[in-house]
Amino acid sequence: MNRNTKYVYRFGSLAVDGKGSMRAELGGKGAGLAEMALLSVPVPPGFTISTSVCRFYLEHDNMPLGLKEQLDASLLWLEGTHGRRFDNRQNPLLVSVRSGAAISMPGMMDTILNVGLNERNLDGLAKQNGSMRFALDSYRRLLQMFGSVVLEVPKKRFDSVLEAVKQREGVATDAEISQPGLRNIVDGFHQLILTHTGEPFPEDPQMQLSMAIEAVLQSWKNERAQHYRRLHKIDELSGTAVTVQAMVFGNRGMDSGTGVGFTRNPSTGFGEIFGEFLANAQGEDIVAGIRTPTAIAALAQTMPQVYEELRAITSRLEQHFRDAQDFEFTVENGKLFLLQTRSAKRSAIAAVKIAVDMAMEKLISKEEALRRIKASSIAEILSPQIDFSSDTPEAIAHGLPASPGSAVGRIALSADAAVEAAGKHGENPVILVTQETTADDIHGMAVAVGFLTAQGGATSHAAVVARGMGKCCITGAKGIVVDQTKGSLQIGDLNFQPGDWLSLDGSTGRVFAGKLPLRQSEAGNPELDTLLEWSLELSSTPIRANADTPQDAAVARRAGAQGIGLCRTEHMFFASDRLPHIRSMILASNIADRQKALDTLLPMQQADFETIFRQMAPLPVTIRLLDPPLHEFLPTADDLNHQLHLAQSRQDVHKINELEGLLLRGQSLAESNPMMGHRGCRLSITYPEILVMQVTAILQAALRVEEEGFLPAPEIMVPLVACAEEIRWLRRLIDETAKDVFRKHGRSIEYEVGTMIELPRAAVCAGTFADQVSFVSFGTNDLTQMTFGFSRDDARKYLDSYLEQGILSDDPFITIDQEGVGALMETAIRQLRLKNPKIKIGVCGEHGGDPVSIAFFKSLGVDYVSCSPARLPMAQLAMAQAEAILPEEHTLGRKIYSVV
Ligand code: ADP
Ligand code: MG
Ligand code: MG
Repeated sequence: MNRNTKYVYRFGSLAVDGKGSMRAELGGKGAGLAEMALLSVPVPPGFTISTSVCRFYLEHDNMPLGLKEQLDASLLWLEGTHGRRFDNRQNPLLVSVRSGAAISMPGMMDTILNVGLNERNLDGLAKQNGSMRFALDSYRRLLQMFGSVVLEVPKKRFDSVLEAVKQREGVATDAEISQPGLRNIVDGFHQLILTHTGEPFPEDPQMQLSMAIEAVLQSWKNERAQHYRRLHKIDELSGTAVTVQAMVFGNRGMDSGTGVGFTRNPSTGFGEIFGEFLANAQGEDIVAGIRTPTAIAALAQTMPQVYEELRAITSRLEQHFRDAQDFEFTVENGKLFLLQTRSAKRSAIAAVKIAVDMAMEKLISKEEALRRIKASSIAEILSPQIDFSSDTPEAIAHGLPASPGSAVGRIALSADAAVEAAGKHGENPVILVTQETTADDIHGMAVAVGFLTAQGGATSHAAVVARGMGKCCITGAKGIVVDQTKGSLQIGDLNFQPGDWLSLDGSTGRVFAGKLPLRQSEAGNPELDTLLEWSLELSSTPIRANADTPQDAAVARRAGAQGIGLCRTEHMFFASDRLPHIRSMILASNIADRQKALDTLLPMQQADFETIFRQMAPLPVTIRLLDPPLHEFLPTADDLNHQLHLAQSRQDVHKINELEGLLLRGQSLAESNPMMGHRGCRLSITYPEILVMQVTAILQAALRVEEEGFLPAPEIMVPLVACAEEIRWLRRLIDETAKDVFRKHGRSIEYEVGTMIELPRAAVCAGTFADQVSFVSFGTNDLTQMTFGFSRDDARKYLDSYLEQGILSDDPFITIDQEGVGALMETAIRQLRLKNPKIKIGVCGEHGGDPVSIAFFKSLGVDYVSCSPARLPMAQLAMAQAEAILPEEHTLGRKIYSVV
């Protein structure tokens, strides 16, 4: 950086230095203002100090050389453009000092309005605007904002001065305070600042300006801003820009006011201008919920020209930016000014509707529509809703449906209480009920399942944050009184305590007492269906489902699965009519007894496979041979001892013998490391008759179903293979069994044999068995467990600390560890493709439903991915995004992909 570096960018009707694409330098707000000025949208003139100044300041605790000159020159320019003079008695120029990072952080940084006002030029401002009351109102606002943000006098202290005067005058809102009342407030604020800081309020406008700029730069480091950045994973180093802008006044009477709005409804996506307006008010009044604003639509009656102009401008902005906008505006004596525009934050449902609608309107392409949806947000749309099917209770309160979804949880009346009630891992559902939320409540909002506020509108803090977090929110609910000090809540005539259950329906704004049942929502969202259709069109990599039972398979097929990637046969054995037979198989002391038990099980398994094949044909079904250690099928020792005790007291000799047998067998099967124990293909090697039974059941089922006219595609998968010799041995057994079955039935059918790669050794030596199998499927859960040496069942105890300390950035059981597990996969895939070019490679396991992992798997070149049926829509979208939209960003084996 040197003296000639450009730090300050102007925007006005005649000159614009910046542009909309300069978000990194000017922040979102500054870039948006510059772009609007370029489009000749009415914005008050001003200039933006670039984010590089923030970085310099935080590093050196000092402003860069040359900034001062640029600021002075820009201020001079602003005075000329605006026709008013800063620090001038007759015709003062007032400015706002606004923060704005490249990524919008609503409510996180502090803006100061009316900078430049003092006792000397108060008269001038009053004359300029024909109202001393207005001038005093502006001044008290400056004192209040400057005092709390820059001088760090607690906000509450200002509030109590203001409240005292309001009480004395018997008025309910600040807009009704008399002129002498405002004078008293100004004097009270001066006094407050003096006593609290030991120094008088800085009357010098230049001083105010530089202190305000510095405070904005400092606020980048404040706690709530840092918290927000951590929550949203925003780069610490990007810094904030500072915009200095000529003031326009919404507090100049009833033909003035301030508003915020959206070009489309941010909660539902409905395509109509939406927002709120507050007459005779300034800046944050509207979001702070001090007075209840009116709907923007009401402007059509009260200020028809303003309304028409606002509609025309904002729809132009939407066309220009090709996205729904969230805008802020002020009306000064009937004249409209835009103060901010940016891409609107929206609920997941709204995001899908807006993207699909915009593609239909030809404003964006289908690919762009797909790119704009965060795959993980699909889960939100399909999240459970309150189940009204059996009974619709009376709502105890109604508010604004500020963010859709349902929430059922226990009441907490403050952010801190919410954190406490939610528990260490957020395991308890909590509903945060407050008068109104502020940026200081973010930590409580992060753990709550839903928010209910007594005040505020559809654009209040709670509403905006809820939509961003994808949580249900009801604002401005009438008849709710929160008493934080007493720790009680009144809704209508009912009294509640913290910990009581409450249910919210965020789509209609209804509040219910008690704990209502939730129900998985049926898809039935036409825009989401369209989006998924487009995903299918744009990707060629099939998504299969993990389904263990005929019921699961039916769900999977309906949800669009292109096959079953993992059918865990053991789940069929846990049914109560089968468990006794599998137990007698385990207990059998000789082959003949074991065979008898297996013979009983065979028709049961076969019937299940038949149903699944019928449901899925002609799509492939991968059936995994028995995998878990046998003791999992036996009752626990505690359970057995308890039963034994009962049997002994009844002197039931037969039962006693049976239970003692189970206990003994259980003891002999017990292992100290069951996850690394006698399981997977090791079972088939020690008890080949189990494998024979399962393969027979699979192939007989396939033959039967084929006879009925279906085209079943069975794939037999051997789990937990470590070395080539295991698979060679088992392949021989499978093929021999198949031959027997075909001979017996006089017919044969095609089947495939494959293996899972879930042990590091198998991954490293994949080339040695590549010619033995026609497919492999990565079992990423076990592979992660075995690679890290983290037990899937116990890792929670330390994984949370690892994540908190930043030792791991993601939970490796949720998002695939690209560096380690990913490297093993890459090695395996290279060898497999080299030795067997026709081999089919898939992934099953929880990672198959994780968008970031899916993109990574695609970059490794897998042929399909399998996930749980509930995650199919999300996986489908993530795959389309990975394949059709960002393929150039995929580089084999490197962490390159972050989901939009
Ligand atoms: P935030 O990032 O918290 O939204 P802003 O910088 O947008 O903060 O300022 C908040 C509000 O202050 C704006 O919505 C607008 O109403 C008001 N405001 C900011 N600058 C001006 C200005 N120059 N003239 C009038 N009002 C302003
Ligand atoms: Mg704000
Ligand atoms: Mg704003």
